[in-house]
Formats: sequence, C-alpha cells, structure tokens
Amino acid sequence: MNKKVDYIIVGQGLAGSVLAYELLENKQTILVIDEEKENTSSRVAAGLCNPVVFKRLTKSWLVDEVLENAKSFYRQQEKLLGEQFYFDIPIYKLFVDEKEANFWRQKSNEPQLFDWINHKIEHPFNPTYLDHKFGAAKTLQSGYLQTAKWLSHFREYLKKSNSFLGSTFDYNKIEFKENGVAWNGYEAKQIIFCEGYQSIHNPFFSWLPFKLTKGEVLTVQFENLKLDSAINKGVFVLPYNNNYKLGATYNWDELNEKTSEEGKEELLKKAGKFINDKIEIIEHKAGVRPTVLDRRPLIGVHPNHKQLCVFNGLGTKGVMLAPFFSQKLVNCLLNNAPLDKEIDINRFEN
Ligand SMILES: Cc1cc2nc3c(=O)[nH]c(=O)nc-3n(C[C@H](O)[C@H](O)[C@H](O)COP(=O)(O)OP(=O)(O)OC[C@H]3O[C@@H](n4cnc5c(N)ncnc54)[C@H](O)[C@@H]3O)c2cc1C
Repeated sequence: MNKKVDYIIVGQGLAGSVLAYELLENKQTILVIDEEKENTSSRVAAGLCNPVVFKRLTKSWLVDEVLENAKSFYRQQEKLLGEQFYFDIPIYKLFVDEKEANFWRQKSNEPQLFDWINHKIEHPFNPTYLDHKFGAAKTLQSGYLQTAKWLSHFREYLKKSNSFLGSTFDYNKIEFKENGVAWNGYEAKQIIFCEGYQSIHNPFFSWLPFKLTKGEVLTVQFENLKLDSAINKGVFVLPYNNNYKLGATYNWDELNEKTSEEGKEELLKKAGKFINDKIEIIEHKAGVRPTVLDRRPLIGVHPNHKQLCVFNGLGTKGVMLAPFFSQKLVNCLLNNAPLDKEIDINRFEN
C-alpha cells in the first residue's frame, strides 16, 4: 500500500526547504526528495540580503515586504534548530570616483531609501590594504544567511521526522490519480517541484522561460586585511566564519557547476584593483542560479496537470524572497488564494 502524505516536494534547496517548513507549520504532512548534491545554487550562495541594488541605487524588489519577513523566518529556524544561521552585517559600497559618491549622497536624501542606506560617506578601512580614497557608505538592515549550514541542519530535522528521502526524482514514476498523484510507493495531493535550475530537465515544466546564470565564489584569507563588514566594489567580500567569501561571477553561457580558471582569475583581478594584500584561496565553488527572463519568480500550478506545482525562479535573491513567496504559495494551495500575476507561471501560457 502507498504511504500517504499531503505534499511531495522535489528539491531541498532554499525554495524546497522554506516551503517544507511553511507546510509543516500549516499542519500538512510532507515528503521532501533531494539527491543531496554538494554544489547547488543554495549551498554555494554567499547568502547576502542587500536591500538596495548598488548599480542604480534603487530599492531591491519588494524589500519593504520581504526582508523583515525573511529575517523572522530564519530567526524562527534558529530557535527550532538551536544554531545561529542569519547574521546582520552592513555592506559598504566603495566608490570608484567622486561622481559615484555624489550620486549616493543625492539618493540617500530620497525618503524611500532612508531605511536602507546610510547618508554618511566614510573612510572606515585601513588604506594600506584597501583602496577607498573616494570613500564608502553602508547599507542599513542588510545581513546574510549561512545557507549550507541551515540547509544541512534542516535536512537532519526532516530526516528525524521521516519526511526526507535522499534520491533522484524519476519523472517516469509519476502516476496521475483522480484526486492526487502517486510516486514510487507514495501518494499525495500534489507534487511541488523546487528543483532550481535543474527544472530545465523536468518534462512537465521545461517550457518555463529560465535565463540561467552560472556563478563562482572563492573562500579566501588575507595576509593582513581584517574586515568586520562586507564590502563591494564590482565584487563583494564578506566575512564568513574565520575566512571571507569573494564573489561572484555572472556567466550566461557555461551552465554547469564546474569551477573555472577564468572565473577564479576574474574574481582575483577585480579584487586586486582595490585590495592591496596577499590573497590565499581556500575554496572555490560554482553553482547555477535559477534566473528568469523577466526576473520574477516562477510559482503556480501546471496548466494541464493540477497535481503538479512549481516553486522556482528565485534568481539572485533566494534568501530574501523564499519565505515571503512560500507563504503566498501555501495560501494558494490551502485557501485557494490567487497568486499575484507577476509571479504566477500562468503569465507565460498562450
Ligand atoms: C555564486 C552564487 C552566489 C549567490 N549569492 C546569493 C546571495 O548572496 N544571496 C541570495 O539571496 N542568493 C544568492 N544566490 C542565488 C540563490 O542561490 C538562489 O536564489 C537560490 O538558492 C535558489 O534556490 P532553489 O532552491 O530554487 O534552487 P537550488 O539551490 O538549485 O535547489 C534545488 C535542489 O533540488 C535538488 N534537485 C533538483 N532536481 C532534482 C531531482 N530531479 N531529484 C532530486 N533532487 C533534485 C537539487 O539537488 C537541489 O538541492 C547565489 C547563487 C550563486 C550560484
């Protein structure tokens, strides 16, 4: 006899994990299936939550709604699992010239940015090791999630409650039933696919318009430079445990999880333009971000198979967006609340 659960979730990255917890909170039974790969987008990510887009100095999409929501979600996880995963940290933008510093000054007077960027231009770093002669200014309310740490702890939590299966999901084993779906000895109301970029291999959702982006990140140590804030000048440097994350690259052509010499050289070259210190590489990782043509999440129910759903397309901002949008999806599944047009996959139906 098939084992019954309310929902099967395929993928235990940020999307699948956050969604799993929201469903459990709503008293649903779940099975989460993941093939337990090392270099997934979620595990490779630096996990930064930056409330502003540095290039244009605009607010990050929906930041007023999503950031506080995300922080409270991860704080709740810390209580549940007894570890710290989320850390508040300012991100300093280092200006390349006077014009950029003036642009920051001007933008920081706009009321919609009061809560997110600090007005003051500072010179807070040791100039011997860090060139910031045009000054630097910081974000407010930014932070980062230690993604791999949280995902590993959350996986253990799922395993303890027999809600996790370490396996590759085989699409050929799906059996559609009158009021649900069966898969490999399990029966559920719906299967929710949270596969990140691997969704391109999913025969039911291969029509979704991803525009995937590979990213590479280095874990490094400096000989002399010490930082207790994150910095950004074309690349970011984030204090992380006792080392630093240096990232990230954006590559739309080579869509795989293999680290490359070019990726490493690009990061070191960009860092070398403002960091005057010896950099030791400790680790080098690559992943593929589930970025979408119109830069919006891909959420909703399959147009022809109501038993299949998707929660994907979190792009470059999974940490901030996942909690808010998983709540939207759960509300849709359990209470028939409509999804916003902007994120619903039916925006791509003919
Ligand atoms: C270099 C880099 C830096 C980044 N930095 C940041 C950052 O600072 N801040 C931020 O918010 N975001 C960042 N991101 C983006 C972030 O990683 C994504 O938004 C988010 O992690 C996507 O999560 P996901 O769960 O949708 O996908 P994934 O992380 O890809 O998770 C999908 C999961 O599904 C599993 N899976 C897929 N198919 C199957 C199958 N058939 N059977 C079983 N299991 C399957 C995979 O193994 C994986 O565990 C970064 C990404 C990269 C690559």
